[in-house]
Amino acid sequence: MTSPAPTTVLVFLDPDFEDGRIADASQPQLMATDLGATRGDGVFESLLAVEGRPRKLQAHLNRLASSGRALDLEIPDQDTWRRAITTAINEYRFVNPAPSPAEDEVVIKLLVTRGVEGASMPTCWIQASPTPAVGRRQRETGIDVILLDRGFDSEAAERAPWLLLGAKTLSYAVNMAALRYAHKEGADDVIFTSRDGRVLEGPTSTVLLAHVEKSDDGTTVKRLITPMLDSGILPGTSQGALFAAAKDAGWELGYGPLVPKDLFDADAVWLISSIRLIAPVNHIDGKEIGTPAVRKQLTAELNELFAGIE
Ligand code: PLP
Repeated sequence: MTSPAPTTVLVFLDPDFEDGRIADASQPQLMATDLGATRGDGVFESLLAVEGRPRKLQAHLNRLASSGRALDLEIPDQDTWRRAITTAINEYRFVNPAPSPAEDEVVIKLLVTRGVEGASMPTCWIQASPTPAVGRRQRETGIDVILLDRGFDSEAAERAPWLLLGAKTLSYAVNMAALRYAHKEGADDVIFTSRDGRVLEGPTSTVLLAHVEKSDDGTTVKRLITPMLDSGILPGTSQGALFAAAKDAGWELGYGPLVPKDLFDADAVWLISSIRLIAPVNHIDGKEIGTPAVRKQLTAELNELFAGIE
């Protein structure tokens, strides 16, 4: 017997409901004139709740607030979000009991739009849904990636703040189109590059690479490197948390600038994000990165560090 498809849970932030208002995800809930629907004008966050606990919640709430500031959006305070997130997680786990603790994962999306045309109130809600099976699988199998031109240079974010490059806006059509392009090319994912040849990020993830070297005194030096955060990319909460844990574990850390050659020369490359977590990159543009044994060992080390993050 197959188990029924999990039920998505919605919780709207509503001044009349202190802990949020649960809404039926199988029924229409948004006005057709909502500026999130008509213009993609809004911001969001995606985070993972494991065994009922949202991971890196403060970092996600902080980034939601900073995306909101970039768009001049009035976002409800963090305590209001925290209460509604608890409602969403509890409701999701009540209607979709996990068969085992290892499968007790919920994707929590926080969504804010500029609201209904003519009104001056944002529309805010939380969506709780299952983790996509493909992402869970790619954590294990790794991914093949192609490099794609993002169409702007690495200084565009500073020169043109209205492009909102460091904000997590609802306008993800370009990111999704890049992923579809990659799938048609037989790849799983994308690493964007800038017009001036810098490595940027994935459409839904941050790029990491590692170098492992023996120093003169025979000790092993491990370096974890990510592109410069001010090069028009979204500062990843997963990268930030992993860097802090890796530093405590003795890794050296570095921030770009990176060019494609740095990826090809690395001992391992990963795309890291809050839902799929740490996905090792097997090939870029058809060329193998490092060796399977080293990729596997370094991925296991990073997974262990990441598992300890609240
Ligand atoms: N970069 C982009 C464009 C993203 O959409 C995401 C996540 O969705 C990330 C990076 C990784 O961010 P985080 O680790 O906070 O999930």
